Amino acid sequence: MALIVQKYGGTSVANVDRIKNVAERIIREYDKGNRMVVVVSAMGDSTDKLIELMNQISSNPDPREVDMLLTTGEQVSIALLSMAIQEKGYKAISLTGSQVKIQTNNKHSQAEIMNIDNTRILKELDEGKIVVIAGFQGIDSNDDFTTLGRGGSDTTAVALAVSLEADRCEIYSDVDGIYTTDPRMIPEASKLDFISYDEMLELASLGAKVLHPRSVELAKANGIKLYIASSFNYKPGTLVGGIEHNMEKRRNVTGVTVNKDEVKITVEQVPDKPGVAGNLFTELAEIGVNVDMIIQNLQRNQKNDITFTIDKESLKKYRKQIEEIAYSIGAESIYIDEEVAKVSIVGAGMITTPGIAGKMFRILGENNINIEMITTADIKISSLIHEKDAEKAVKVIHDGFELDKI
Ligand code: ADP
Ligand code: ASP
Ligand code: MG
Repeated sequence: MALIVQKYGGTSVANVDRIKNVAERIIREYDKGNRMVVVVSAMGDSTDKLIELMNQISSNPDPREVDMLLTTGEQVSIALLSMAIQEKGYKAISLTGSQVKIQTNNKHSQAEIMNIDNTRILKELDEGKIVVIAGFQGIDSNDDFTTLGRGGSDTTAVALAVSLEADRCEIYSDVDGIYTTDPRMIPEASKLDFISYDEMLELASLGAKVLHPRSVELAKANGIKLYIASSFNYKPGTLVGGIEHNMEKRRNVTGVTVNKDEVKITVEQVPDKPGVAGNLFTELAEIGVNVDMIIQNLQRNQKNDITFTIDKESLKKYRKQIEEIAYSIGAESIYIDEEVAKVSIVGAGMITTPGIAGKMFRILGENNINIEMITTADIKISSLIHEKDAEKAVKVIHDGFELDKI
């Protein structure tokens, strides 16, 4: 008898028919003699709707109340799914993050799971029940509700799989696997049978919202393979952390992503002397701003321009402090460009194949797409471009590396 953790995302439980469909899929596995623990997200776009309501009341809401509000979305879907299972004559119970004691730290809206108490889950499983658990939520040491960050139900599922030593961890959404790029944007994208943890982690972190990056990190750290598939059909999905049968088959580039969540900030004419960049980025880190890409241009008059990117949310939250920091290190002006997009390619095979970066830049150049910034690492290369070119860039890179033929 296997213990299976399944996770169904918002689209999979967006309406009553879909909830009934999910109930049937769970029962199908239960009937094979498996113990079923199921994590669900809030229905459809209900989390977005809650955020809209909140924004109409406050532009700076109390983080505790934000999480109090957002955790309600999942409470609706777990109860309805549990009822749908019961309606088919099976035993089921829904549990919130606090009932399961998914213990997190107290970083509201970005909380990290510290511990899960299996006692209640195992008790319910032993009684033959299908256990339906609210994704994305936990409780902190004050018993206050916390949330794990948008898309965090994936992380709840993997954390439960780790804690329960599950035999399988399956993540179901509205796509039947991981593709070479978002198949909604590029219909020619190819489905991957397998992908390494590192490649998946990069794709997820660089904008492929199909998996919460922390879920991949957690799976990697604990050697848990993730099976990603659709809740709308039974087509074979993608194994994250799986290995290709043909061991020598290597892909130079595995996927392309685009991220429109970043903004480019140029701190202009800062004095060219030791310690300036150190001060700037240390102070940004201290207020909680995460910097991604960085370039520095030396000017002739002993002054530099330092350009970096951060996420749009951080700009919204910390704009004033960022400006203060820039002027405190001697900047003459600050320029913010919100119309940028970061297009990235990811592939483990890059390490041993020269010329991949050149090819990416050439493809962009040949298509008249100007590159504003570049960063590279072992298995990824990112170029910052104008936002208007984002879709075109993904398309021409996908074509150029022949990812439709993988
Ligand atoms: P869920 O609500 O089930 O958590 P998400 O919306 O978070 O699902 O993730 C699924 C979506 O991820 C798909 O609808 C697809 O548009 C998008 N996506 C982005 N990049 C990729 C990719 N490389 N492969 C598959 N899906 C992708
Ligand atoms: N409902 C949450 C969100 O929309 C969590 C999730 O879907 O994973 O971000
Ligand atoms: Mg998701």
